[in-house]
Amino acid sequence: MRPDPDYQPRATRLRLERKVALITGGDSGIGRAVALAYAKEGADLVLSYLSEDDDAKTTEEAAREFGAKVLLVRGDISDEKHCKHLIGETIREYGQLDILVNNAAIQYPQESIEKITAIQLHKTFATNIFAQFYLCKAALPHLKAGSNIICTTSVTAYRGSGHLIDYASTKGAIVSFVRSLSASLAQKNIRVNGVAPGPVWTPLIPATFPADHVSEFGSDVPMGRAAEPNEIAPAYVFLGSDDASYITGQIIHPNGGEIINT
Ligand code: NAD
Repeated sequence: MRPDPDYQPRATRLRLERKVALITGGDSGIGRAVALAYAKEGADLVLSYLSEDDDAKTTEEAAREFGAKVLLVRGDISDEKHCKHLIGETIREYGQLDILVNNAAIQYPQESIEKITAIQLHKTFATNIFAQFYLCKAALPHLKAGSNIICTTSVTAYRGSGHLIDYASTKGAIVSFVRSLSASLAQKNIRVNGVAPGPVWTPLIPATFPADHVSEFGSDVPMGRAAEPNEIAPAYVFLGSDDASYITGQIIHPNGGEIINT
């Protein structure tokens, strides 16, 4: 048979060795778990966060224990200028960017559409999806063949959410963004994928939902519980690594067994 098929595992011993990853919302929740999983697999990190310096330092210290270099960059990614700055700082520090994890997001539950102000709507879209656009655009000149982008969407993109109408809409936009950007970058061998978590026990949940919702959070999925952040992070390791070299435009669904309509 000519040429011979390649049977050897693609990833090196550490799956993200010599890779530099920029993770938005890398201070907290899913982003923190991704940062630690990436550090454990040999990546160096840029962690973008809004304002929680203590959370960012805690994540930085934990990642350094795995031997990772870490650069913290504080600031608001809904501002395009800050997104350009974030990419500029990454290149200044490391000279390369291999994995862009667009993970940061906000949500403000409301009982009906009438309660969603134009200000909330704009802020949610600016943070959750416009920022992903700005960052991908600024990162693109620095991404080489084999680099990749991972965007955090949500199960709410697929099943909707009556109390998170604006948030779920941004998550639906992210799914289409992943599919569209992947189509435009496939020939350059720059992969673009997404992760659509179900309920995950992170600071976002008690910070934004009422107590009765928090106490039952996750109980309605087939596995009957919310995920820990470290049960979501392995999907990002896989997609970020060379093991996923033939996967682009796809979404992974760590959601406790909910069957969704792709
Ligand atoms: P989290 O609140 O713990 O972390 C989000 C982080 O995003 C914040 O700590 C903050 O640093 C950052 N951030 C927010 N606004 C920002 C801004 N304007 N500029 C810069 N950084 C900003 O949340 P999480 O639960 O870990 O969520 C991470 C991702 O997972 C989000 O995209 C969220 O929509 C998604 N998600 C979460 C769940 C869940 O149940 N927790 C479920 C599905 C999807």
